[in-house]
Amino acid sequence: MKPITILWSDGVSEAEAKECIGAMRDILRFLQKVAVEQDIGLAPIMLRPYGNWALQNSTANEAYHSFRWYWESSLDQRSGQVSAATLIDIVRYEPWQHADPHLDLVLLHTELHDDTENQDGDFPSVFACTEPDLVTIISLRHLSQIADANLRLKCLRNLVMHNFGHLVGLPNGLPSGSRAQTGESASAKRASAHPCVAPCIMVETQSIDELMTVAAAAEEAGIYLCKTCHEVTRSLVFSLHFSTN
Ligand SMILES: [Zn+2]
Repeated sequence: MKPITILWSDGVSEAEAKECIGAMRDILRFLQKVAVEQDIGLAPIMLRPYGNWALQNSTANEAYHSFRWYWESSLDQRSGQVSAATLIDIVRYEPWQHADPHLDLVLLHTELHDDTENQDGDFPSVFACTEPDLVTIISLRHLSQIADANLRLKCLRNLVMHNFGHLVGLPNGLPSGSRAQTGESASAKRASAHPCVAPCIMVETQSIDELMTVAAAAEEAGIYLCKTCHEVTRSLVFSLHFSTN
């Protein structure tokens, strides 16, 4: 699997960043376990928590000089929300992606709107937006409604695992070729997804209440995936074993 870079914006707390890194370490350990179950070896998957990075010896006006530049360049000044489509495109065409193909997991302290499907209209403010095999962007803004700090981190953990799942192709597996090549939209893929049975990190949640329920159930059950998602993960891990990525 490609290396995974974790990035976060200014307002993300240390506790939130740590929870995200911990969730990623756990899910990567889980993938290794799935490989062992199949008696195959999986090369260690590199996790790079670069956080709110900035290049040394660069000026604030230079493109790609810091993560702050990515965030500011995709911020809609009118709504104060980050445009998912803009940030995904910046990540897609950045020089680092070309020189060193990797997966990005982004945490934002601001709201995120999903404008990946339509060019205009009122874009919904979402928990997250994912371009499979490239980047997942997670907004922590809605989590601030949760008063209990512990529960807030549990929900963040669930969001990280869930959206990493989408990043690597859960619940249905990655299509052969990119989304642009297949012409299949993200919503079409969601519609054709197999029904997920809770507890499973891939259960879709539409509200903060649903997210809290799913996160609590996942922790209580102590398992990550339902039977079908587990089967898909087995085949994803199997294909990783035989690919250079
Ligand atoms: Zn599932």
